[in-house]
Amino acid sequence: GGRLACVGLGMMLGAHIGPRARSHVEQANVVFAAVSDPLVEQWLQGMNDDVRSLQVYYAEGKPRRETYRQMVEAMLEPVRAGRFVCGAFYGHPGVFARAPHEAIAQARAEGFIAYMEPGVSAEACLYADLGIDPGRFGCQHHEASQLLLYRRRLDPSAHLVVWQAGWVGDRQCLRFSTGPAQRALLVERLREDYPADHEIIVYEAATLPVGSPRIERLRLDRLEAAVLNPHSTLVLPPAIALQPDLSMQARIDALARSEA
Ligand code: SAH
Repeated sequence: GGRLACVGLGMMLGAHIGPRARSHVEQANVVFAAVSDPLVEQWLQGMNDDVRSLQVYYAEGKPRRETYRQMVEAMLEPVRAGRFVCGAFYGHPGVFARAPHEAIAQARAEGFIAYMEPGVSAEACLYADLGIDPGRFGCQHHEASQLLLYRRRLDPSAHLVVWQAGWVGDRQCLRFSTGPAQRALLVERLREDYPADHEIIVYEAATLPVGSPRIERLRLDRLEAAVLNPHSTLVLPPAIALQPDLSMQARIDALARSEA
């Protein structure tokens, strides 16, 4: 019967793909590719004879929801025809990515075998390139527009990672980039929890082995003037020290004493 595997290719061409993801790409009847670089698509074509691009569904002025729906449909059609389909996504297929999660849920709902194979995401790369351990102070991840559209609680004693900042404030995701006015609103929101001179890092992982990552450090109040690309991620280091919970510490110490 038909089945679906959504696999991660990692961020860097050829460098991050795991053996299981690779064998799915090689053995699938059809590979649907959602990758950021034409070179990556060429590389996939070397592994499978039937590689189809999912990029064609993106269009300026078309709601992103509709794009994802069409991607899901495209992947499910051959599954329903009994074929083994592989969705190949850059990074991790389940990280800030709608279509893979929805395609797997839909395939399962229709009774097909469907699963996800993780990959090296932008998140994994930034921990390595910026020397951040998410366990040291904790680490929050938010989608930029969601940070504006909803009341979220930011903890300035943790790291903050802001995804999709390049099109912050685009409600229906109609565009690929938004302008200084939307970005000013993001700065305004971040200023509720961080000082104006707080360091913010514009981060772009290298996607080719010959390249190097973009790591640009600037003041939060200079963010409006920074170059933000669709593949830029923002990172804010902690602004304040961890706040001790003295009463909980006392209770834990009391427990230790009572057990001694
Ligand atoms: N599934 C992908 C993320 C897709 S969402 C992953 O696993 O990483 C798209 C967002 O991912 C971008 O807006 C940006 O925040 C981040 N991103 C994509 N490419 C990136 C890169 N080369 N470096 C840093 N962040 C990147």
